[in-house]
Amino acid sequence: MTAVFDGHNDSLGRLQQGGVDPARFLSGLPDRHVDLPRARAGGLAGGLFAINAPSPESEPSETEGVFERAYAARVEHGDAAAFALGAVGRAHALAAASEGAVRVVTEIAGLDRAREEGALAMVLHLEGAEPIDPGLATLEAWHAAGVRSLGLVWSRPSAFGHGVPFRFPASPDTGPGLTEAGLALVRACARLGIAVDVSHLNAAGFADVAGLAEGPLIASHCACHALCPATRNLTDDQLRAVAAGEGIVGIVYAAPFLRADGRDDPDTDVATVVAHVRHAVSVAGLDHVGLGSDFDGATMPRELADVACLPRLLEALRNDGFTEADVRAIAWDNWRRVLAAAWRRGA
Ligand SMILES: [Zn+2]
Repeated sequence: MTAVFDGHNDSLGRLQQGGVDPARFLSGLPDRHVDLPRARAGGLAGGLFAINAPSPESEPSETEGVFERAYAARVEHGDAAAFALGAVGRAHALAAASEGAVRVVTEIAGLDRAREEGALAMVLHLEGAEPIDPGLATLEAWHAAGVRSLGLVWSRPSAFGHGVPFRFPASPDTGPGLTEAGLALVRACARLGIAVDVSHLNAAGFADVAGLAEGPLIASHCACHALCPATRNLTDDQLRAVAAGEGIVGIVYAAPFLRADGRDDPDTDVATVVAHVRHAVSVAGLDHVGLGSDFDGATMPRELADVACLPRLLEALRNDGFTEADVRAIAWDNWRRVLAAAWRRGA
């Protein structure tokens, strides 16, 4: 079975939010997209497991059927830190209870070993940097706790920058980019060997990170603006910047970021995901495209209803003309290469 590295899921954050006993992830959580039995069935061998402190209420959507939402309220640092600490603890508890079947991975050798031994490698990812204090005094502690990937913002303002509101159709150029604290955070992550993710940034924030060139340019769960003009997606210029920045875009399976009509509709063909992979490959090159599902965080196409459906997506890629080597690159090798570069300390 082809091993898959998934650039983004919200499964861990949802365990924390729901107060779910980690043991249930091991035995099965049928109402969620990801659990251990179905990860095995689908070939999921590793991924960035996101921790996103819940946002206060959003401003209501105005457009029927199309996914639009703007979050004006900030999440307090203390609340975010408490949530993220709980989730990190839950990940370690889950790994300890799994007898080696699930591992919190902090280095490439561990990722390789997990794949060889048929284990599931969890890379801890903070989605939105609010758990870190703006002075960055706690960043080393998060690193020591196992965090190896960081989304600078979620789609809301923070001390570090301005997340992009969910709009369709619209440009991702929605306002100012990173703050001084945000720029310092990117530099500090490069020094420590923490991967930096530009998903949920607006165009100015993306350009700020690209301009610093402090490590590989990673967009963990986005799709192509040329095919679906949602603010969360990457323009062709941004896809070229990802390639120039020796990075990766993980193509998201979230229906409203895939569909040309922007509708949040599970009646979305798996071929739509393939079309975004194909477009990203044609613009950024095969070496710079991977997968980034958004399982447990978004509406999935019915054919990709959960993690056990991953072989169906890989088969659709083969049927579209991708070779076996291409599929391996997209499913695993590209993510491995980019994380190895990001985790090299002192970049
Ligand atoms: Zn996200």
